[in-house]
Amino acid sequence: MTSGDLKRPLSSVVGGKTATALGKSFGMATVNDLLRHYPRRYAQRGELTDLATLRDGESVTVLAEIEQVTIRPMKQRRGSILEAVVTDGKGRLSVTFFNQAWRERELRAGRSGLFSGQVSSFRNKRQLAHPQCLLLPDGVDDDPEAIAAFAGVLIPVYPATGSLTSWQIAGAVRVVLDTLGAVDDPIPDAVLSAEGLVGLNRALHLIHRPTDFEDVGAAQARLKFEEAFVLQVVLAQRRQQMAHLSATSRAVVDGPLRTAFDQKLPFVLTAGQNSVSEEIAKDLAGTHPMHRLLQGDVGSGKTIVALRAMLSVVDAGGQAALLAPTEVLAAQHYRSIRELLGPLAERGLLGGAADGTKVALLTGSQRTAQRRVELLDVITGDAGIVVGTHALIQDTVEFRDLALVVVDEQHRFGVEQRAALAAKARDGTRPHVLVMTATPIPRTVAMTVFGDLDISTLSELPAGRTPIATHVIATREQPGHLVRAWQRVQEEAAKKHRIFVVCPRIGDVGPEDDLEIDAGETSIASVIDIAQSLARDLPGLRVEMLHGRMSGDEKEDVMARFANISHAAGIDVLVATTVIEVGVDVPAATTMIILDADRFGISQLHQLRGRVGRGSLPGLCLLVTDADAGSPARERLLAVASTTDGFELSQLDLEMRREGDVLGAMQSGRRSSLRLLEVVRDEDIIVRARAAALEVIEVDPQLRDHAALRIEIDSIIADEHAEFMEKA
Ligand code: ADP
Ligand code: MG
Repeated sequence: MTSGDLKRPLSSVVGGKTATALGKSFGMATVNDLLRHYPRRYAQRGELTDLATLRDGESVTVLAEIEQVTIRPMKQRRGSILEAVVTDGKGRLSVTFFNQAWRERELRAGRSGLFSGQVSSFRNKRQLAHPQCLLLPDGVDDDPEAIAAFAGVLIPVYPATGSLTSWQIAGAVRVVLDTLGAVDDPIPDAVLSAEGLVGLNRALHLIHRPTDFEDVGAAQARLKFEEAFVLQVVLAQRRQQMAHLSATSRAVVDGPLRTAFDQKLPFVLTAGQNSVSEEIAKDLAGTHPMHRLLQGDVGSGKTIVALRAMLSVVDAGGQAALLAPTEVLAAQHYRSIRELLGPLAERGLLGGAADGTKVALLTGSQRTAQRRVELLDVITGDAGIVVGTHALIQDTVEFRDLALVVVDEQHRFGVEQRAALAAKARDGTRPHVLVMTATPIPRTVAMTVFGDLDISTLSELPAGRTPIATHVIATREQPGHLVRAWQRVQEEAAKKHRIFVVCPRIGDVGPEDDLEIDAGETSIASVIDIAQSLARDLPGLRVEMLHGRMSGDEKEDVMARFANISHAAGIDVLVATTVIEVGVDVPAATTMIILDADRFGISQLHQLRGRVGRGSLPGLCLLVTDADAGSPARERLLAVASTTDGFELSQLDLEMRREGDVLGAMQSGRRSSLRLLEVVRDEDIIVRARAAALEVIEVDPQLRDHAALRIEIDSIIADEHAEFMEKA
């Protein structure tokens, strides 16, 4: 092992005790792990930390000046409390030590130091209780650690823990950097010079021991680019590998089934639906598997586009599978596809069309006998369209000739699941894959998370749709409005319209069962309570519940009765949790009342309200909240009420989240490798890194001449795989 080997174990460089502490606190094992633990910020010598920015509960390292020190005996026990008041020149912070009277000697008014601990409030005063501290050297005592820590103008401040301070981490970094030899750079030299970036060795020195902010800037530019680049190489390589896979061409465009379907459609397709359909048809005709993401706001007509693609492959002699994230959605897709197809879905039955097909439904909660019937249709190929949950892919279900897989909601369907499709198609080919998502994804996120997919976007809603009117009802200020809302529910029900009432939690039973929101908050509206009181207060209305604790059969029964307005046991008001969030399509639903709406995120609210106003009837969504005027929660609700543009809201939502959440919510496996890169903001870097990555992969797809890059990439793929296995 050379001194430039970043994979060396830490214990071979920094001493056993420190290595163990770093491992325990941060899971670090190698030199690389430590060097990739970048400073969170830099304290400038002579410039004190702004104490007003501290938040309760936060672990912080502050640079502050001692103003006053007092020492007093403890009241209840033996021993003493030493309290130092430190200041940034404006605000104050109380720093208390128990039984450390000896510190009085060094904690003299006028001295500055680093104080590291957890912020709390005690009798309205901000404090750090028994923090770690390191005083600026003043020539009297020559603490070598202090001298080294304050050697530069910029003092790196690291994410630290109670047992491992920022300056201890800095000390370990120093030892490693002092002995670091030439390191292998994952970014090829040509790319470095084209981009004007510093090499890895230099970047690591600059980020940990900068002399000025220009150094920090140069280091960050390089390290951010590296993160984007390595990720884009993974994606570019994956695209290349997929391009080598083969698929059966399904080139029939105007087959009998799809033509018959189009003729029956009660509306004309939008321009967007037509052009996306053409893109898909072109992919399906190819001999490599399609991997396409179809994004479009709720109600933009994705399902119709997907269904037409499925009918084309059936016309071409293949089968199509539609995978939904939940059983409710699978059942609903099944129902609505059968409705849309009518006699075309009833081949072999009396009244069924001769050139029709069959639609099969496969869910986990199905009875064995029923499942057997459906499985038979799948294996013989009688069922051209098979609807199920994502589990269908892991299951041992055999298709006669699976041509196309449509996945509803991409972020739960990763690379590993795509790989599992290999076993489903015939003769070593892969099926074509179309994934649909109703969460509009900003361009850079799409490039980062879905960079290995082609993307189609439906950006317009079908004409004639009245936009959903959304209003905030603030119960504290306008209790009368809520009363009026319940009257409205009765009026709508009298017109045979359907009403959703959404609650953040299920309620009633033990809190540990309350999976859909933080437990134990009984003041938050619950499905069980609200359903009960509505049944009581709205006599004559048929009120039912829908939530994740019901069985698949129960949920399906309730949805069927709610969706079908001529059902004998129809339901007027459905009180539900977010299980209705995606994909539920009930044309007669006109009204949605969301209780404690501030409990939901922006995108979630947007998805939820997309469930009403889907037919020709105008939709109304009421966001009920007791959040105060001007509070962030109230502002979020106002934002949702002010626009129906899903892209605008999703951008807003992403900006309000932390970076890790953005990717975490989209797809796993990407978070761990991104430390500095901000996917929503660093568009420019991502675009350039992508171009550079494509070039490298084109010339050297196996990365034979890029050993360091190859090693980086292997470790990212291993992380993704580990994360997948953990979840599975
Ligand atoms: P998405 O899946 O994108 O949420 P759907 O495909 O479910 O949207 O379509 C929403 C509703 O709009 C459905 O009731 C569908 O029948 C209808 N629809 C789809 N395309 C059109 C169109 N071009 N014109 C009118 N209505 C349409
Ligand atoms: Mg849909």
